[in-house]
Amino acid sequence: MRTNQPTTIRLSEYKVPAYLVDTVDLRFELFESGARVHSTLTVHRNPESTEEFAPLELDGDSLKLERVELDGQELAAGSDYNETGVQLVIAKVPARFELTVVTWIEPQNNTRLEGLYKSSGMFCTQCEAEGFRCITYFPDRPDVMARYRTRIEADKASCPVLLSNGNDVDRGDLEDGRHFVTWEDPFPKPSYLFALVAGDLVEKQDTFTTCSGRDIDLRIFVEPRNAAKCQHAMDSLKRSMRWDEEVYGREYDLDIFMIVAVDDFNMGAMENKGLNIFNSSCVLASQETATDLAFQRIESIVAHEYFHNWSGNRVTCRDWFQLSLKEGFTVFRDSTFSADMGSPTVKRIEDVTLLRTAQFAEDAGPMAHPVRPASYMEISNFYTLTIYEKGAEVVRMIHTLLGPDLFRKGSDLYFERHDGEAVTTDDFVKAMEDASGRDLAQFRLWYDQAGTPVLTVADDYDSERGVYSLKIQQAIPDTSGQTNKKPQHIPFALGLLGAEGEALPLRLGSTEDAASAPTERVLELTDASHTFEFHGLSQKPVPSLLRHFSAPVRLVYPWSREQLVFLMSHDPDGFNRWDAGQRLAVDVIQSLVASSGAGDVDPRLVDAYRALLADRALDQALVAKMLHLPSEAYLIELADSPDVAAIHRTREQVLSHLATSLRDELVACYNRNLGGGEYEVTPESVARRSLKNTALAWLLMINDDTGRDLALQQLSEADNMTDRMGALRALVNSDYAAERSQALADFYEQFQSDPQVVEQWFSVQASSDRAGQLPQIQALLKHPAFDWKNPNKIRSVIGVFAGQNLAAFHNPDGSGYSFLAEQVCRLDDSNPQIAARLVAPLTRWKKFAPAYSALMRTALEQIRDKAELSADLYEVVHKSLEA
Ligand SMILES: [Zn+2]
Repeated sequence: MRTNQPTTIRLSEYKVPAYLVDTVDLRFELFESGARVHSTLTVHRNPESTEEFAPLELDGDSLKLERVELDGQELAAGSDYNETGVQLVIAKVPARFELTVVTWIEPQNNTRLEGLYKSSGMFCTQCEAEGFRCITYFPDRPDVMARYRTRIEADKASCPVLLSNGNDVDRGDLEDGRHFVTWEDPFPKPSYLFALVAGDLVEKQDTFTTCSGRDIDLRIFVEPRNAAKCQHAMDSLKRSMRWDEEVYGREYDLDIFMIVAVDDFNMGAMENKGLNIFNSSCVLASQETATDLAFQRIESIVAHEYFHNWSGNRVTCRDWFQLSLKEGFTVFRDSTFSADMGSPTVKRIEDVTLLRTAQFAEDAGPMAHPVRPASYMEISNFYTLTIYEKGAEVVRMIHTLLGPDLFRKGSDLYFERHDGEAVTTDDFVKAMEDASGRDLAQFRLWYDQAGTPVLTVADDYDSERGVYSLKIQQAIPDTSGQTNKKPQHIPFALGLLGAEGEALPLRLGSTEDAASAPTERVLELTDASHTFEFHGLSQKPVPSLLRHFSAPVRLVYPWSREQLVFLMSHDPDGFNRWDAGQRLAVDVIQSLVASSGAGDVDPRLVDAYRALLADRALDQALVAKMLHLPSEAYLIELADSPDVAAIHRTREQVLSHLATSLRDELVACYNRNLGGGEYEVTPESVARRSLKNTALAWLLMINDDTGRDLALQQLSEADNMTDRMGALRALVNSDYAAERSQALADFYEQFQSDPQVVEQWFSVQASSDRAGQLPQIQALLKHPAFDWKNPNKIRSVIGVFAGQNLAAFHNPDGSGYSFLAEQVCRLDDSNPQIAARLVAPLTRWKKFAPAYSALMRTALEQIRDKAELSADLYEVVHKSLEA
C-alpha cells in the first residue's frame, strides 16, 4: 500500500538481467501459523550484460527475511546486504555463486491472493505476473529461466496431497505426523510459472497417449464434495491434447499433467508448468449445476491453459510488455479449437461480440494501450481485452494473410527457433515472415498503435462499363499519448451478391476470367485510401463487407435497411448474416432513441425476425444467435454521449414490440424445441435450449400468462441448469413479482450448498433491472452466502451490477456510481487487483452524456482521495481522471 506515485516502467528502458539463475532448490515448511521458505539459487553473471560490477538485486514483497547465505557464509544485514521492503540488494557478489535465502510468510493472512495463500483450508499459489516475490527474494522477471526442484513438507492429515511443477521424484514421512514430497521440473521456466498446492484433495485420474506413443498421467484434483464434477474438464483436456498435436504438431512433454480447482482465485486459470491451477468455476461442471455456457467456457479455458504449455511456457515472454506474445497467440489457438469442436460461425459471433462491445470500448477509453504497451505502472492492470482479444485478432490476421499452410510453417519455425527462450512479439512476427517470405513490416504497427481503425467505405456503380468500385479509407483515432497514426496493413474479406442472392465472381481487372474468378477475396489495405474496381457486373451488387470480421475495425458504410434485410437472408457468410441483423436492429433502435421513442418500430425488423423464427433450414445455432438483439452495452458503445436511460427504455420498447407481434410464433418456437432427449452439449442441443429460453424470455417481457406458466413448469421439471436458469432468468426479468420472489427463494433453498450455483443466483439478480436495484444489491452484499474474500462472489454481485445492469448502475441520481466507488475502496485494502478491475465502468466517464459523466467523475475522485491507494488502483484512477 502506498500513497505516493508508483513508478512507471518503460519498454524502452529494458535491460538484460545482470545475473542469471541456473537452478532453484526450494524447501517449503507449511504450518497453520505460516510457512518457512528455504531457497537456494545457483547464480552466474550474465555474459550479455554490460554491467560488470552490478549489485545483485532480488525482488521481494511482504517477506520476513530470516537468513541470507552466500556460498555457505551467513551474510550480515546492513554491511553485506540491504533490505528495502521491495528488494534485497547484495553489493558484492562473485561471478558465480550459490545463494540461500530463508523467509517466513503468512499464507493464511494473504487476502491479495498473489504468491502463496490459503483458500478453503488449502495452500495454493498464483505467481503471474509478480507473485513469486511474495514467496521468496528472487529476480522475479520472465527472462530469468531456471530449473526448479521443490520439496514440500506439511502435516499429513490436513495436507495429504502435496503438488508442484514437474515430476514427483521423492516422498516420505517425517516426525510429528508430517510428510514431504519432492518435485523436479526438468524444463527451465520463469518464476511466474512456479506453482505449489497442498491440501486435502481427491483426484480424478485418466491417461492420454501422445502421438509418439508416450502415456501421460492426467489428474484433476478437487475438494472431495466436487469429485463428480470433473469429467467434462478431463474430456476437454484430452481433446485439447489431441488437437494441439494435429493442428500445431505440439506434443506434451512431462510424464504428468495436473489441474487443481481452487475457490478463491483472482483470475480464471493459470498455466503453471505441469500444474494448472483453476478457479473452481472454470473447471467444475455437471448437468445439474452448470449451464451450457459454463460447459463451453470450461472446454475453452482448459484448452487455453493447456496450449500455453508451448505458447507461453516452452517459449515465454522476455518482459511483461510482450504479454500478448503468449496471450494473443493462445487465445487465437483456443478460439480455433472451440470453433473446431462446435460451430465456427457461432464461435466467431461470440468472439466478435466481446471484441466490439468491450475491447473497442477499452480502445476508445483512457486506459487505451497498444497490444504491446510502451509503459505501465502495475502489470496486473494490463491483463486486458486488448492484450488478449485484440492480440488474438492480430494473430488471426497473420493467419488470414499467410493462409493456413504458411501460418503453420511459421508457428513450427517459431517453436523450433525459440524453444526454451524468453522472446518478443517481434520474434514471433519474424518467424512468420521467415517461413512465408512475406514482408510484415507495416503489419507490425498493429502491435504498437492503440485505437480501433475506422474503415469508411463508399461505392459506385458504372452501368455503362459494368464496373463496381469500392473506395476504402482508413483512419486510426488518437488515443492517450498517441496521435497522427500511420495506416495499418488490414486484410479485408468481401463478397458481392446479385439480385437473387447469388455470389458474383470478383474480377479485379477486366482481363480476369469470370469463370475462374473467386466469389470471395481478401483485399489488402495498406494506404490511407484504396479504390478497388470489380469488372463484368451487369447490375449494382449488394456488398458483403469485412466477412468473418477479417480485421478488428469499425466499418462505416451507408447500408439501407433493404440491403440489410437482404443480407440477413441471403449472405452465404453466416457471420455477415448475423451482422446484418445486428446492424438493422441497431439502426432501428438508434433512430427511435433519436426521436425519443416517437414513431413505430420498422415493420421490416418484425418481418425479418418472423422469417428467422420460421427458418428451419438455417443452422439453428445461428438462428439462436440472430434472435438476440444488440446488447445495451453495445448500443452504448456505438453512441456518442449515450443517454443510458433512453437506450434502455428504447431497447425494451423494441423488444416488447417484437414479442407482442410475434407472440404466437414464440410459443410455437418454444414448443418445437421442447424435449430433445438426454442432456448433451452439442451445437444442436445447445441451440435448441437457447431458442427455447429466448422465446420464454421474450414472452415474459410482455407479461404473457402462457409464458409464465411455461417458465414455472420448466423451472420445476428441468433436468439441467441451462433450462432451470433460463426459466429463472425469464421470471426474474418479468413483472410477476410474487413468482419471481418465490422462484428465487426456492432456487436458493435447493442449491445453497453449491458455491458455483450460488454465484449464478447472485448474478441473475444483480443483472436484472427488476430484481437488482441498488437496495436489493446492498441486501445481496449482506446475504450469508456473500463473501468479501472470494473474488467470484464479488464479481457476481458488484461486477455484474456495474457491468450488466446498466440502467440501474447509471441511475441518474449517481447512486450506482458512489456505491461502486465505496466497494472499490473497501476492496482495495484486501485485494487491489480485484479493486482495480471492478473500477473499469467508471473510467469511461468521458464517453457519457454530461449529466452522467459529471457524477462518474465525482465517484472517481472519491476513490482518488482515499487515504491509502494501491499501485493497481492508483494507475487506473489517475490515468482515467487525467485523460
Ligand atoms: Zn492465458
